[in-house]
Amino acid sequence: MSDVDTKIASLKIEAPEALVKQTEEFAKQIITILPGIHCAVGYGLANSMLIEGDDGNIIIDTLESCEAAIELHKDFQAISSKPVAAIIYTHNHADHVFGTEVLAGDNLSNVKIYSHATTRKMFDITGLIQRTTFQRAARQFGMYLTEAHGIVNDGIGLHLKFDKNSRRPLLYPTDTFDTDSLNLTIAGRNLVLYHAPGETDDQIVVYMPKEKVLFAADNIYKAFPNIYAIRGTSTRDAIQWVSSLDLMRNLRAEYLVPSHTKPISGAEYIYETITIYRDAIQFVHDQTVRFMNQGFTPDDIIGKKLIQLPKHLKEHPYLQEFYGTVDWSIRAIFDRYIGWYSSKESDLNPDAPSIRAQNLIRLGGGSIKVFESAQTAYSEEKYQWCLELTEALNLHPEDLNKSEIIQLQVLALQKLASFQTSANGRNWYLTKSLEIQGLIEIQPSPKQVSQTIMNAPLKSLFMFLSINLNYQKASEFNQLFLFHFQDTNAKFSIHIRNGIADVKYQWPENIQSKSIDVIVEVTKEEIWKQVIARIKGPIESVSDEEIILKDGSGEINQELIVPFLIFLTMFTSD
Ligand SMILES: [Zn+2]
Repeated sequence: MSDVDTKIASLKIEAPEALVKQTEEFAKQIITILPGIHCAVGYGLANSMLIEGDDGNIIIDTLESCEAAIELHKDFQAISSKPVAAIIYTHNHADHVFGTEVLAGDNLSNVKIYSHATTRKMFDITGLIQRTTFQRAARQFGMYLTEAHGIVNDGIGLHLKFDKNSRRPLLYPTDTFDTDSLNLTIAGRNLVLYHAPGETDDQIVVYMPKEKVLFAADNIYKAFPNIYAIRGTSTRDAIQWVSSLDLMRNLRAEYLVPSHTKPISGAEYIYETITIYRDAIQFVHDQTVRFMNQGFTPDDIIGKKLIQLPKHLKEHPYLQEFYGTVDWSIRAIFDRYIGWYSSKESDLNPDAPSIRAQNLIRLGGGSIKVFESAQTAYSEEKYQWCLELTEALNLHPEDLNKSEIIQLQVLALQKLASFQTSANGRNWYLTKSLEIQGLIEIQPSPKQVSQTIMNAPLKSLFMFLSINLNYQKASEFNQLFLFHFQDTNAKFSIHIRNGIADVKYQWPENIQSKSIDVIVEVTKEEIWKQVIARIKGPIESVSDEEIILKDGSGEINQELIVPFLIFLTMFTSD
């Protein structure tokens, strides 16, 4: 181990020079595109744009947290103190929406918030997987990394200013459209909002026809497109993205203002840049499908380097793999069309990871021998193999000291990080190296969790209940609960049966009173949110008569507290 030990002491987590240089793209500044049209770069992960109007201003995208927006709000105010008349969300992603409360300033209660109709739907469902995506996004964006840990940047922005303590009130759009485009005149400024599904399905780009300024959202930035995000997304529809870029280039804009990386100008240059970007996406899509049709799996295609960007694409400044990568895109496109199964027979019903680890270690002559092989792999610079072996040893350490395995695994992760051009991959490796040492634990603060619940629409909260059903507890349970909210007259029903919770946004029709187990009358929606967020206990709410329990025929019966509490215990996320 001595050889490796010395390396720990001397290790500096290097980074590809090009990724280090990419940081220059994010120098904090407000760039004036044309009089009254500004783009703020470097205040958060994304850009935020200010358009001054006659009697009010328009802001496009609002950064990732209130903390990130505070300084920007001050600087925007210094440019123009007119009230913010409208805010436009280019899409639902966290780095574009969470600073609204701050940036809207004094006009928060009157501000109009525009988005595509799909954005609202995306907000509703984001919560479904937020537990895992919080953790995965923290790794991708290096949210817990400092410079001492080797963070360089986030590829399309300097650093996501968003951690377990950030405030992120989610303000829903007030005005949405579900057509291809929407013409608006706000404070004397004419804008066309185009639905342009690309990096997300709800993406819109904003065009000012008179000034020929195109706000490109996340459909183009100065880094290889993220056709798949390792933080966890469904694969972006590459074909749709390409046609949205066609729409964008055909506008022949004089100014292109993306929501990440610096704006550019010149109609011809913009046309060429969008063209090369759309061509790269089409290239990776078409070639992946081509090799897929020849029977190749993603491992084959990537392992044999069957798809390499042609030289003019590979060398283009907008296609450097600082964010998305060609290899991850190949896997994602395969998955989008074909699904998880590679077609290799041993992948059809694989053993559990712990059994595979055990078999590997037995084959290698026991854990001590395998650990020696992992050390050899490290000194021979085979870091991927070293990582695989240490992962297996972690699952099946036998007589080995776990801390020794982790030490070697950390070194392998740091080395793999140092070769990664994609900031996403680098940040992931480095974050994981801290996690396995027990130095960080990634989770939102309890306050953030309850804030999210309090801000969510009631409908979403009911929907999320079904994914928190503990089916082992509920397997023998068959009960129907009806809910009525007195302040809004909203009605819901939950029927737990067969290990599922069937949630409906209304009461069943023609229901017989004897089929109803409990009717839950709630005086205010807020009370129910407090119960879900564990701010107030259900027993207390019942005794305060904020929750009134009735039987199927509508008679108040406080003894129903027992089945009500049992019902609530069925929903535990862990
Ligand atoms: Zn973004």
